[in-house]
Amino acid sequence: MVSKASGRLQICNLRPRAKSGKMRGMRLLLIEDEAKLGEYLRKGLAEEGYVVDVATDGIEGLHLAMELDYDVIILDGMLPGIDGLSVLAALRQTKSTPVLMLTARADVEDRVRGLQGGADDYMIKPFAFSELVARIQVLLRRAQSHPSSPEPTALREADLEVDLIRRRAVRAGVRLELTAKEFNLLALLLRRQGEVLSRTELASQVWDMNFDSETNVVEVAVRRLRMKVDQPFATPLIHTVRGMGYVLESREQP
Ligand code: CA
Repeated sequence: MVSKASGRLQICNLRPRAKSGKMRGMRLLLIEDEAKLGEYLRKGLAEEGYVVDVATDGIEGLHLAMELDYDVIILDGMLPGIDGLSVLAALRQTKSTPVLMLTARADVEDRVRGLQGGADDYMIKPFAFSELVARIQVLLRRAQSHPSSPEPTALREADLEVDLIRRRAVRAGVRLELTAKEFNLLALLLRRQGEVLSRTELASQVWDMNFDSETNVVEVAVRRLRMKVDQPFATPLIHTVRGMGYVLESREQP
């Protein structure tokens, strides 16, 4: 656990014992300017079997991220040179390397902008080292199950097809008439098929909004989307996972 209680960096060793052998040899880039934290994370991740490069400012970090192929990039938000969000924006013009952003607790806006800007996950400082490792593993698994290079231009599940370039959705040969938001929502669910996406995540990724629990914009949009994507067809693809969110997947009919 790394915490900054009372303005002092406190480090206590909570690293999990088990090494994730399967993930060994994966290459990580850590862009973090706090020397002590950077060194602690570098050592810990190396002990977990990762190959870790460390950049201590945004310029060096972006250079490494563009020149080399990393499996995951851990990107601090506040950096000298170029800040984390700008590094992310520059990177996303050409590369889809999974990015886990580190943000300060107060920076809700930064987190939303980070997710909208293409960050795959974020962690709020201070965080437990074991959680960082777990999140890196999730990103690695996701990248392995959905290889993203080259970027897919079409997504498919059962008889549903989405053309991301022409922004067309077709199910069983029938063109679906979707609004822009409905298309983005469907594309996100399809891109992450089999994964339960929370309303908060859908709200932050599809709508330019900070999630407000008073609004039911996500529920309403999912209901409309289902009327178009599922209702006219025999097999539903979009499912509600009670208390968690929504998932798009083919399920065996009972
Ligand atoms: Ca920083």
